[in-house]
Amino acid sequence: MGKYYKIFMLITVISIVLLTYISYNNQQFKNNPLSLDIVTKIENKKNKIRALIYNKYRVDINIPIEITDKIGDNLFGLATFTKDKKIKIYLNKKRFKENEEYMIDYVLPHEYAHAIMFYFGDFTKENGGHSKRWQDICLALDGKKCDRYVNHNDILIEKVRF
Ligand SMILES: [Zn+2]
Repeated sequence: MGKYYKIFMLITVISIVLLTYISYNNQQFKNNPLSLDIVTKIENKKNKIRALIYNKYRVDINIPIEITDKIGDNLFGLATFTKDKKIKIYLNKKRFKENEEYMIDYVLPHEYAHAIMFYFGDFTKENGGHSKRWQDICLALDGKKCDRYVNHNDILIEKVRF
């Protein structure tokens, strides 16, 4: 009896320690900006994409990227065009936790392709902005998966006047 009790207590204690550790980690992630490692990876990818854009389209544009937890949970990223014609890319901070490689290699080129479309004045609504032209740009920017048939709305165009 004593022996089983000790084993039981040991398992309980280990579980509590593990749970505390996991919850601490979650809290850390929630309260802190992304690690320097991830931020550096994003910055490197951004520079690579910028070079690809220059090589392909001969324009040097610096599109700001913001890591945020304010966009919908279902979104990985968002490309926006504001009333004052500013283009910006948002990446969902919460989604970095699951898979940072996916965010950097798949989501970033995907959103950049939307941003470039805005830059070229192409505000197509075809497939939620995922037109053939968008796909070509996404692939040119080394996108790992430039699927045109995605069922999410990840572009936000505040006002477009021609
Ligand atoms: Zn998209």
